[in-house]
Amino acid sequence: MSENDKVLCSFCGKDKQDTNILIAGTSAHICDLCIEQAHEIVKEDAADEVFIANDFTLLKPKEIKAHLDDFVIGQDDAKKVMSVAVYNHYKRILQPDTSDEDIEIEKSNIIMVGRTGTGKTLIARSIAKLLKVPFCIADATVLTEAGYVGEDVESILTRLLQAADYDVEKAKRGIVFIDEIDKVARKSDNPSITRDVSGEGVQQAMLKLLEGTIVNVPPQGGRKHPDQKMIALDTKDILFISGGAFDGIEQHISSRMNTRSIGFKSASEGTIDKENLLQYIAPQDLKSFGLIPELIGRMPVVTHLNPLDRAALKLILTEPRNALTKQYQKLFDMDGISLTFDKKAIDIIVDKAMEFKLGARGLRSICETIMLDAMFEFPSDESKKELKITTTYVRAQLTKHSFTKLKVA
Ligand code: ADP
Repeated sequence: MSENDKVLCSFCGKDKQDTNILIAGTSAHICDLCIEQAHEIVKEDAADEVFIANDFTLLKPKEIKAHLDDFVIGQDDAKKVMSVAVYNHYKRILQPDTSDEDIEIEKSNIIMVGRTGTGKTLIARSIAKLLKVPFCIADATVLTEAGYVGEDVESILTRLLQAADYDVEKAKRGIVFIDEIDKVARKSDNPSITRDVSGEGVQQAMLKLLEGTIVNVPPQGGRKHPDQKMIALDTKDILFISGGAFDGIEQHISSRMNTRSIGFKSASEGTIDKENLLQYIAPQDLKSFGLIPELIGRMPVVTHLNPLDRAALKLILTEPRNALTKQYQKLFDMDGISLTFDKKAIDIIVDKAMEFKLGARGLRSICETIMLDAMFEFPSDESKKELKITTTYVRAQLTKHSFTKLKVA
């Protein structure tokens, strides 16, 4: 027998006579040891899958809402709608394969409409944290159709993969928050004749992603490069939550409601809260605003967030588990300093935030300005062990740092 005719295991290269059994395939051989090793690998992989399924605890809508109550002030409608939508979404994923059955539960991506700083991102992030699923935020304004300058919609998934430490199985069940979805609205309700690269084109590009498709994702982001190894990610079980302020959508809501109420005036008019029309938001308003019907169809759950009033801002500052005042107290406490806020001082901070009309976002910048000097001085001064934030202190700090001239971001 020549050297070339020798029968070897195609995996480890062992000679037939060094093995117990060598099984022949059509064009290759495998030895008993390699069979065992291959079997181990298959078993481990299957165990990983089971682990992922067991690792995931699906909470009931009431439990999800109760958790949100700890972190998010007000916004009861949104919290309820989100709890149910998220519960149904994961129930759908965890259901056994229904390919033989007639009823297939459809995906329920979500749109949240509400002014900036009212808690849209906070709700989405809190849910992901509670369910221990990967979470990422994508900004719709930087997305463009493939082939144009800007980011492809696939870049969204790169972030999710990164959030999942490149664990594809985990990423497949993640939550993506698409911020500023209103900014990709087309400029008019009529389909455009000219190409609308940043608006309608992006909406079109997002359709497949939201519905469920296998996307080749560049693991490090950036443009697709022929040499870059892609990771295939199925988006069918990813929950997409989008949010936007939809400035001016109230006009569309109001005109829809007026048209509808012709003939029913007395029945409906008395109950309409004209101060907060967002609560009546319906998919057709999103269409009038400039979202294409196909996109709206792929995000069937629509909910709204209420503007935050003084009382809500005050609560946000003091009540949630990680309320801003508690965060500063913790920071000072780490240096052995006791920090307290006077009730009236809190009132001034809230007044300023109302003035800036940036929802709860304003609170943070105002507090940073007020606390800056103390955060700079106190840690180096052993004699200072107590700080009381009073109205006088707040006013002095705001004047000193010319707060009214500052840009609140
Ligand atoms: P947006 O609606 O613009 O997504 P965010 O959720 O990012 O607003 O809110 C910005 C910050 O303001 C949050 O990190 C949180 O600290 C605070 N915040 C906003 N709304 C609420 C709320 N309803 N309850 C508690 N904190 C809130």
